[in-house]
Amino acid sequence: MSSHPSTKRIEGKVAFITGAGSGIGRAAAIRFAQEGAHLVLIDRDQQTLNVIGQEAKSFGAKHITVEADISDEQSIADAYRKTISEFGQLDIVFANAGINGTLSPIEYMGKEEWEATIGVNLTGSFLTVKHAIPHMKEKGGSIIITSSINGNRVFSNIGFSAYSSSKAGETAFSRMAALELAEYGIRVNTICPGAISTNIDKSSKPQPELEEVLIPVEFPEGDHPLENGPGKPEQVASLVLFLASDEASHITGTSVYIDGAESLLRG
Ligand code: NAD
Repeated sequence: MSSHPSTKRIEGKVAFITGAGSGIGRAAAIRFAQEGAHLVLIDRDQQTLNVIGQEAKSFGAKHITVEADISDEQSIADAYRKTISEFGQLDIVFANAGINGTLSPIEYMGKEEWEATIGVNLTGSFLTVKHAIPHMKEKGGSIIITSSINGNRVFSNIGFSAYSSSKAGETAFSRMAALELAEYGIRVNTICPGAISTNIDKSSKPQPELEEVLIPVEFPEGDHPLENGPGKPEQVASLVLFLASDEASHITGTSVYIDGAESLLRG
Protein backbone atom coordinates (compact mmCIF):
# COMPACT_ATOMS: atom_id res chain seq x y z
CA MET A 1 0.00 0.00 0.00
CA SER A 2 1.27 3.50 -0.86
CA SER A 3 2.33 5.70 2.05
CA HIS A 4 1.51 8.80 0.04
CA PRO A 5 -1.53 10.68 1.30
CA SER A 6 -4.40 10.83 -1.22
CA THR A 7 -4.31 13.85 -3.49
CA LYS A 8 -8.05 13.59 -3.98
CA ARG A 9 -9.64 16.58 -2.29
CA ILE A 10 -13.10 15.30 -1.35
CA GLU A 11 -12.53 11.56 -1.19
CA GLY A 12 -15.20 9.74 0.83
CA LYS A 13 -17.31 12.88 1.24
CA VAL A 14 -21.02 12.74 0.43
CA ALA A 15 -22.08 15.43 -2.04
CA PHE A 16 -25.71 16.36 -2.76
CA ILE A 17 -25.98 18.03 -6.18
CA THR A 18 -29.16 19.58 -7.58
CA GLY A 19 -29.60 20.03 -11.32
CA ALA A 20 -27.13 17.17 -11.69
CA GLY A 21 -28.61 16.00 -14.99
CA SER A 22 -27.27 18.79 -17.17
CA GLY A 23 -24.78 21.60 -17.61
CA ILE A 24 -22.95 22.88 -14.54
CA GLY A 25 -24.45 20.31 -12.15
CA ARG A 26 -23.51 17.44 -14.43
CA ALA A 27 -19.94 18.72 -14.81
CA ALA A 28 -19.62 19.09 -11.03
CA ALA A 29 -20.96 15.56 -10.54
CA ILE A 30 -18.34 14.14 -12.91
CA ARG A 31 -15.55 16.16 -11.29
CA PHE A 32 -16.66 15.11 -7.80
CA ALA A 33 -16.80 11.47 -8.95
CA GLN A 34 -13.22 11.75 -10.22
CA GLU A 35 -12.24 13.13 -6.80
CA GLY A 36 -13.64 10.11 -4.98
CA ALA A 37 -16.82 11.63 -3.56
CA HIS A 38 -20.07 9.71 -3.08
CA LEU A 39 -22.88 11.37 -4.98
CA VAL A 40 -26.53 12.14 -4.49
CA LEU A 41 -27.70 13.26 -7.92
CA ILE A 42 -30.89 15.31 -7.89
CA ASP A 43 -32.87 16.50 -10.89
CA ARG A 44 -36.48 16.76 -11.91
CA ASP A 45 -35.66 15.05 -15.20
CA GLN A 46 -35.23 11.30 -14.59
CA GLN A 47 -33.88 10.64 -18.10
CA THR A 48 -30.88 12.92 -17.64
CA LEU A 49 -30.36 11.43 -14.18
CA ASN A 50 -30.06 7.95 -15.71
CA VAL A 51 -27.30 9.20 -18.01
CA ILE A 52 -25.32 11.01 -15.31
CA GLY A 53 -25.80 7.99 -13.02
CA GLN A 54 -24.10 5.79 -15.64
CA GLU A 55 -21.29 8.34 -16.01
CA ALA A 56 -20.74 8.48 -12.24
CA LYS A 57 -20.62 4.68 -12.19
CA SER A 58 -17.93 4.66 -14.87
CA PHE A 59 -15.69 6.61 -12.46
CA GLY A 60 -16.40 4.08 -9.72
CA ALA A 61 -18.39 6.58 -7.66
CA LYS A 62 -21.00 5.33 -5.22
CA HIS A 63 -24.14 7.23 -6.03
CA ILE A 64 -27.90 7.41 -5.91
CA THR A 65 -30.18 9.32 -8.25
CA VAL A 66 -33.29 10.99 -6.87
CA GLU A 67 -35.94 12.56 -9.05
CA ALA A 68 -37.03 15.65 -7.11
CA ASP A 69 -38.32 19.15 -7.67
CA ILE A 70 -36.32 21.59 -5.54
CA SER A 71 -39.28 23.96 -5.25
CA ASP A 72 -41.31 21.25 -3.53
CA GLU A 73 -40.47 21.02 0.18
CA GLN A 74 -41.61 17.43 0.65
CA SER A 75 -39.64 16.31 -2.37
CA ILE A 76 -36.40 17.88 -1.15
CA ALA A 77 -36.86 16.66 2.44
CA ASP A 78 -37.40 13.11 1.10
CA ALA A 79 -34.23 13.39 -1.01
CA TYR A 80 -32.20 14.18 2.12
CA ARG A 81 -33.82 11.26 3.97
CA LYS A 82 -32.72 8.94 1.14
CA THR A 83 -29.22 10.46 1.31
CA ILE A 84 -28.85 9.67 4.99
CA SER A 85 -30.35 6.21 4.71
CA GLU A 86 -27.92 5.37 1.87
CA PHE A 87 -24.71 7.04 3.08
CA GLY A 88 -25.29 7.99 6.74
CA GLN A 89 -23.71 11.41 6.31
CA LEU A 90 -23.80 14.66 4.29
CA ASP A 91 -20.74 16.84 3.71
CA ILE A 92 -21.25 18.94 0.57
CA VAL A 93 -24.35 20.53 -0.93
CA PHE A 94 -24.28 22.08 -4.39
CA ALA A 95 -27.58 24.01 -4.64
CA ASN A 96 -27.35 24.55 -8.35
CA ALA A 97 -30.63 23.71 -10.14
CA GLY A 98 -32.27 26.70 -11.76
CA ILE A 99 -34.25 27.98 -14.72
CA ASN A 100 -34.32 31.15 -16.81
CA GLY A 101 -38.12 31.13 -16.69
CA THR A 102 -40.39 33.68 -18.31
CA LEU A 103 -38.59 36.55 -20.03
CA SER A 104 -41.02 39.42 -20.28
CA PRO A 105 -41.40 43.16 -19.86
CA ILE A 106 -42.28 43.81 -16.21
CA GLU A 107 -45.57 45.33 -17.35
CA TYR A 108 -46.68 42.01 -18.84
CA MET A 109 -45.04 39.59 -16.39
CA GLY A 110 -47.77 37.45 -14.83
CA LYS A 111 -47.66 36.93 -11.05
CA GLU A 112 -47.64 33.14 -11.56
CA GLU A 113 -44.73 33.40 -14.01
CA TRP A 114 -42.77 35.62 -11.63
CA GLU A 115 -43.46 33.22 -8.76
CA ALA A 116 -42.47 30.19 -10.85
CA THR A 117 -38.95 31.58 -11.42
CA ILE A 118 -38.53 32.78 -7.84
CA GLY A 119 -40.01 29.47 -6.65
CA VAL A 120 -37.41 27.30 -8.37
CA ASN A 121 -34.33 29.51 -8.08
CA LEU A 122 -34.67 31.32 -4.75
CA THR A 123 -37.18 29.23 -2.79
CA GLY A 124 -35.59 26.05 -4.20
CA SER A 125 -32.16 27.11 -2.93
CA PHE A 126 -33.65 28.06 0.45
CA LEU A 127 -35.28 24.62 0.76
CA THR A 128 -32.10 22.85 -0.35
CA VAL A 129 -30.12 24.64 2.37
CA LYS A 130 -32.82 24.42 5.05
CA HIS A 131 -33.20 20.66 4.86
CA ALA A 132 -29.45 20.07 4.75
CA ILE A 133 -28.81 21.76 8.10
CA PRO A 134 -29.98 18.97 10.45
CA HIS A 135 -27.66 16.54 8.65
CA MET A 136 -24.61 18.85 8.57
CA LYS A 137 -24.68 20.72 11.85
CA GLU A 138 -22.73 18.16 13.87
CA LYS A 139 -19.69 17.85 11.60
CA GLY A 140 -19.91 20.98 9.41
CA GLY A 141 -19.52 21.04 5.67
CA SER A 142 -19.67 23.19 2.57
CA ILE A 143 -22.67 24.58 0.72
CA ILE A 144 -22.27 26.20 -2.69
CA ILE A 145 -25.19 28.03 -4.34
CA THR A 146 -25.21 28.84 -8.06
CA SER A 147 -26.19 32.47 -8.45
CA SER A 148 -25.23 34.50 -11.57
CA ILE A 149 -23.63 37.69 -12.80
CA ASN A 150 -27.27 38.67 -13.53
CA GLY A 151 -28.79 40.43 -10.53
CA ASN A 152 -25.36 40.96 -8.96
CA ARG A 153 -23.21 42.80 -11.49
CA VAL A 154 -25.25 42.76 -14.70
CA PHE A 155 -28.65 44.45 -15.14
CA SER A 156 -28.77 44.90 -18.91
CA ASN A 157 -30.52 41.63 -19.82
CA ILE A 158 -33.96 43.13 -20.39
CA GLY A 159 -36.75 40.65 -19.66
CA PHE A 160 -34.77 38.80 -17.00
CA SER A 161 -36.27 40.74 -14.05
CA ALA A 162 -37.59 37.65 -12.23
CA TYR A 163 -34.42 35.65 -12.92
CA SER A 164 -32.10 38.48 -11.83
CA SER A 165 -34.15 39.10 -8.68
CA SER A 166 -33.94 35.41 -7.81
CA LYS A 167 -30.16 35.41 -8.32
CA ALA A 168 -29.69 38.57 -6.21
CA GLY A 169 -31.85 36.92 -3.56
CA GLU A 170 -29.66 33.82 -3.60
CA THR A 171 -26.60 35.97 -2.88
CA ALA A 172 -28.27 37.75 0.05
CA PHE A 173 -29.61 34.45 1.38
CA SER A 174 -26.20 32.77 1.17
CA ARG A 175 -24.63 35.54 3.27
CA MET A 176 -27.36 35.31 5.90
CA ALA A 177 -26.85 31.54 5.95
CA ALA A 178 -23.05 31.85 6.12
CA LEU A 179 -23.24 33.89 9.30
CA GLU A 180 -26.01 31.87 10.90
CA LEU A 181 -24.42 28.50 10.15
CA ALA A 182 -20.81 29.46 10.97
CA GLU A 183 -21.23 28.15 14.51
CA TYR A 184 -21.83 24.67 13.06
CA GLY A 185 -18.75 24.86 10.83
CA ILE A 186 -20.95 25.02 7.73
CA ARG A 187 -19.49 27.28 5.04
CA VAL A 188 -21.88 28.86 2.51
CA ASN A 189 -20.68 30.53 -0.69
CA THR A 190 -22.18 31.50 -4.03
CA ILE A 191 -20.70 31.22 -7.46
CA CYS A 192 -21.68 33.80 -10.09
CA PRO A 193 -21.11 32.45 -13.60
CA GLY A 194 -21.32 34.49 -16.77
CA ALA A 195 -22.51 32.78 -19.94
CA ILE A 196 -21.68 29.07 -19.79
CA SER A 197 -22.48 26.59 -22.58
CA THR A 198 -25.28 24.46 -21.11
CA ASN A 199 -28.95 23.67 -21.80
CA ILE A 200 -30.21 26.65 -19.74
CA ASP A 201 -31.77 28.37 -22.77
CA LYS A 202 -34.24 25.48 -23.06
CA SER A 203 -35.73 26.73 -19.77
CA SER A 204 -36.37 30.23 -21.19
CA LYS A 205 -39.90 31.31 -22.03
CA PRO A 206 -39.48 34.52 -24.03
CA GLN A 207 -42.71 36.50 -24.45
CA PRO A 208 -43.44 38.35 -27.73
CA GLU A 209 -43.89 41.68 -25.85
CA LEU A 210 -40.14 41.65 -25.12
CA GLU A 211 -39.59 43.36 -28.50
CA GLU A 212 -41.23 46.47 -27.04
CA VAL A 213 -38.61 47.02 -24.33
CA LEU A 214 -35.37 45.52 -25.67
CA ILE A 215 -32.38 47.85 -25.51
CA PRO A 216 -29.84 47.01 -28.21
CA VAL A 217 -26.42 46.57 -26.62
CA GLU A 218 -23.42 45.96 -28.86
CA PHE A 219 -19.88 45.09 -27.93
CA PRO A 220 -17.60 45.67 -30.94
CA GLU A 221 -14.78 43.58 -29.45
CA GLY A 222 -17.05 40.75 -28.34
CA ASP A 223 -18.58 40.30 -24.90
CA HIS A 224 -16.18 37.70 -23.44
CA PRO A 225 -12.85 39.47 -22.95
CA LEU A 226 -10.79 36.58 -21.59
CA GLU A 227 -11.56 33.66 -23.89
CA ASN A 228 -13.64 35.19 -26.67
CA GLY A 229 -16.63 32.95 -25.95
CA PRO A 230 -18.78 31.46 -23.20
CA GLY A 231 -17.24 29.39 -20.45
CA LYS A 232 -17.46 25.62 -20.14
CA PRO A 233 -19.31 23.79 -17.36
CA GLU A 234 -16.04 21.98 -16.53
CA GLN A 235 -14.39 25.33 -15.72
CA VAL A 236 -17.19 26.08 -13.27
CA ALA A 237 -16.86 22.57 -11.78
CA SER A 238 -13.23 23.34 -10.85
CA LEU A 239 -14.38 26.32 -8.79
CA VAL A 240 -17.13 24.29 -7.14
CA LEU A 241 -14.60 21.58 -6.23
CA PHE A 242 -12.30 24.18 -4.66
CA LEU A 243 -15.12 25.70 -2.57
CA ALA A 244 -16.31 22.23 -1.55
CA SER A 245 -12.87 21.14 -0.39
CA ASP A 246 -10.81 21.99 2.69
CA GLU A 247 -8.64 24.17 0.43
CA ALA A 248 -11.39 26.76 0.99
CA SER A 249 -11.62 26.17 4.76
CA HIS A 250 -11.57 29.90 5.65
CA ILE A 251 -13.92 31.02 2.87
CA THR A 252 -17.58 31.63 3.68
CA GLY A 253 -20.19 34.27 2.85
CA THR A 254 -18.38 35.06 -0.39
CA SER A 255 -19.42 35.25 -4.05
CA VAL A 256 -16.91 34.15 -6.64
CA TYR A 257 -17.42 35.48 -10.18
CA ILE A 258 -16.53 33.05 -12.96
CA ASP A 259 -17.15 34.88 -16.20
CA GLY A 260 -13.88 35.71 -17.97
CA ALA A 261 -14.54 39.42 -17.12
CA GLU A 262 -17.87 39.42 -18.99
CA SER A 263 -19.65 41.22 -16.14
CA LEU A 264 -17.02 43.96 -16.01
CA LEU A 265 -17.72 44.81 -19.64
CA ARG A 266 -21.49 44.45 -19.52
CA GLY A 267 -22.40 45.67 -16.03
P1 NAD B 1 -29.10 23.40 -17.45
O1 NAD B 1 -30.49 23.71 -17.92
O2 NAD B 1 -28.14 22.80 -18.41
O3 NAD B 1 -29.18 22.48 -16.15
C1 NAD B 1 -30.09 22.75 -15.12
C2 NAD B 1 -30.64 21.44 -14.55
O4 NAD B 1 -31.50 21.77 -13.45
C3 NAD B 1 -31.48 20.64 -15.57
O5 NAD B 1 -31.04 19.30 -15.61
C4 NAD B 1 -32.91 20.76 -15.02
O6 NAD B 1 -33.70 19.61 -15.28
C5 NAD B 1 -32.66 20.95 -13.53
N1 NAD B 1 -33.77 21.63 -12.87
C6 NAD B 1 -34.41 22.74 -13.27
N2 NAD B 1 -35.40 23.02 -12.42
C7 NAD B 1 -35.38 22.07 -11.46
C8 NAD B 1 -36.18 21.82 -10.31
N3 NAD B 1 -37.22 22.60 -10.00
N4 NAD B 1 -35.88 20.77 -9.54
C9 NAD B 1 -34.84 19.95 -9.86
N5 NAD B 1 -34.07 20.13 -10.94
C10 NAD B 1 -34.35 21.18 -11.73
O7 NAD B 1 -28.57 24.79 -16.92
P2 NAD B 1 -27.20 25.25 -16.20
O8 NAD B 1 -26.70 26.39 -16.99
O9 NAD B 1 -26.31 24.11 -15.89
O10 NAD B 1 -27.82 25.85 -14.87
C11 NAD B 1 -27.35 25.55 -13.57
C12 NAD B 1 -27.39 26.82 -12.71
O11 NAD B 1 -26.46 27.75 -13.25
C13 NAD B 1 -28.73 27.54 -12.68
O12 NAD B 1 -29.01 27.94 -11.35
C14 NAD B 1 -28.51 28.75 -13.55
O13 NAD B 1 -29.34 29.84 -13.21
C15 NAD B 1 -27.05 29.03 -13.26
N6 NAD B 1 -26.34 29.87 -14.25
C16 NAD B 1 -26.19 29.42 -15.53
C17 NAD B 1 -25.52 30.23 -16.44
C18 NAD B 1 -25.32 29.80 -17.86
O14 NAD B 1 -24.96 30.65 -18.70
N7 NAD B 1 -25.51 28.55 -18.22
C19 NAD B 1 -25.01 31.47 -16.03
C20 NAD B 1 -25.19 31.88 -14.71
C21 NAD B 1 -25.86 31.06 -13.83
